[in-house]
Amino acid sequence: MKVKAAVLYEVNQPIVVEEVDVDGPKAGEVLVKIAATGVCHSCYSVITGKEKWPLPAVLGDEGAGVVEAVGSGVSLVKPGDHVVLSISPACGHCIYCVRGYASLCLKAAQMRERPPRYGKNGKGIYQFTVASFAEYTVVPQEAAVPIDQDLPLDKAALCGCSVVSGVGSVANTAEVKLGSSVVVIGAGGIGLNAIQGAALAGAAQIIAVDLVEAKLEMARQFGATHTINASNGDPISEIHALTEGLGADYAIEAIGTNVTYEQAIRAIRPRGKAILIGLPQSEPICLEPQLLMNGERIIMGSALGSTRMRYDVPRLISLYRAGKLKLDELITQTYPLEAVNEAFEDMLNGKVARGVIRF
Ligand SMILES: [Zn+2]
Ligand SMILES: [Zn+2]
Repeated sequence: MKVKAAVLYEVNQPIVVEEVDVDGPKAGEVLVKIAATGVCHSCYSVITGKEKWPLPAVLGDEGAGVVEAVGSGVSLVKPGDHVVLSISPACGHCIYCVRGYASLCLKAAQMRERPPRYGKNGKGIYQFTVASFAEYTVVPQEAAVPIDQDLPLDKAALCGCSVVSGVGSVANTAEVKLGSSVVVIGAGGIGLNAIQGAALAGAAQIIAVDLVEAKLEMARQFGATHTINASNGDPISEIHALTEGLGADYAIEAIGTNVTYEQAIRAIRPRGKAILIGLPQSEPICLEPQLLMNGERIIMGSALGSTRMRYDVPRLISLYRAGKLKLDELITQTYPLEAVNEAFEDMLNGKVARGVIRF
């Protein structure tokens, strides 16, 4: 079948929107007609080469759509089901799935890194995670999470990555407690959702840190009680001044640089937790060990918000229906697939809370 898709051929080159061939679903796979897809920093990391991925590849890691066809042995969804596509497919049977840590599923990598399902002129084109920058995609059934049919699919799409990751980093990984203080470093797609997650969890103080004033303004709309523009200098002393001189109970790092990783660790008080969710650089970070020993500080990574998609997505949707989770407000700009390069530029410039491509 011929479909329109956004293909990255080389790092640091514009994405090409073109017609490609897509395979039908093989055993255990489903063909999904994409309705909408968020424009996410994870894809941008593939564009810049920070995240290594075989190319050419169809990008897109935050999509939702309707199941069109299923391969043999598929039992989790059926044609006609509305689904959120999950960057965190989970087998449900490995020791981590059984323990409730589905985002650490031992089979996830195998499910994500499949042979090419797209092609052009007889040459294979890979898919980055769920490859939602295409009219149709083929994913393992474990990556398609059914949702109610009355839910707008553009809102639902955001639950595939940024919302589960951001809210999950607070609710699942950090387990933020009522009345606590939370610093969120980076007010992009993940960060804004960490901020609204902290507000939902009952944090008394939510301090957003970013370099872009427009993003700090959005942070306030999503629940930040204080904002710090780090382009004025190191934010740590200001964070400590706001938190009884001790530092915050929790810090969520949602950028992925060594500078901000270290800031998150220095931002927390003794017994505080620093949660690192931004995609890391490959260089090691340097820390004084007494920071950990003397203060019993906890540093923890968060793999996609410690998400268990089949549990978390319905919970998030319930919060949205109850008027408590802001999804409408996240989508500040929509684009056709042809404008995908512009959509990434707007994301980088802080012009959008979330850009969404609609099909
Ligand atoms: Zn993403
Ligand atoms: Zn598993």
